Amino acid sequence: MGKFIDTHTHSEFSPDSKTSVRELLEHAREAGLSGIAITDHLDLDAPRNPGLFEFSIASQQKAIAEAEKEIFPNGGCKVLKGIEIGLQPGESIQHSREYISGFEFDQIIASIHFVDGEDPYYGNYYDGKDFRRAYSRVLELIYTTAKDFGDYDVIGHFDYVARYAPYDVKDIRYADFPDELDAILKMLAQEGKALEINTKTYDFHGSHLQVLDQNILRRFKELGGEFVTLGSDSHESSRLCDKFAVFAQVCKSCGFERLTYFEKRDPVLYTP
Ligand SMILES: [Zn+2]
Ligand SMILES: [Zn+2]
Repeated sequence: MGKFIDTHTHSEFSPDSKTSVRELLEHAREAGLSGIAITDHLDLDAPRNPGLFEFSIASQQKAIAEAEKEIFPNGGCKVLKGIEIGLQPGESIQHSREYISGFEFDQIIASIHFVDGEDPYYGNYYDGKDFRRAYSRVLELIYTTAKDFGDYDVIGHFDYVARYAPYDVKDIRYADFPDELDAILKMLAQEGKALEINTKTYDFHGSHLQVLDQNILRRFKELGGEFVTLGSDSHESSRLCDKFAVFAQVCKSCGFERLTYFEKRDPVLYTP
């Protein structure tokens, strides 16, 4: 795995992971990673389970600092304090702002997990919608909620909604959603923020393996986009930096010679 930095990982501070921060860092050391960002879930106002996706940021940051001291006493691996905030429109955005205020992060990922009161993971979201409506609604929400929230560095897994979708069309293709995608990509380019390639999305073994449409990356470059992050979204240490070599090559071929990570909220370009 070598010199990669995994910018999207979950520890036991996320309700759907049992991996301790220590274990993540131990694996990072064994795999010789250049860096790792721990980005646990904060999804306030979750529709089925309010409170489930909340955690104590203070405890998480303390665990990160302690594990770093223990496992990398002489440095050698960038250990980055992150968070993945699931956004929903309306007052939930203000709740998120208040929840994180007073804390310092290296990187904040803005994601959409819940849509109009539904969790696509459970399937109901897709009822009565064709793929165009189901996907375009999420792309619109990514744009409007991120714009409204503002305090983020990276848009996480823009194509997450297709992961659990029941349609034949399992890819978000630029040609199908040029306006929705342009709005997101322009915003990221103009504000110096990053687009994430979430490698977990391309790892689902349903009827059709989801594919990243490289036209989206090319378009991002064309619009002046500079920053692309690679995130495994691993909830267990075995998936750290999964498929990064493949996607680093994809980035390169689309004009992104270097990858990005964030430190103290500033983008840093690096060559793996
Ligand atoms: Zn996510
Ligand atoms: Zn995640």
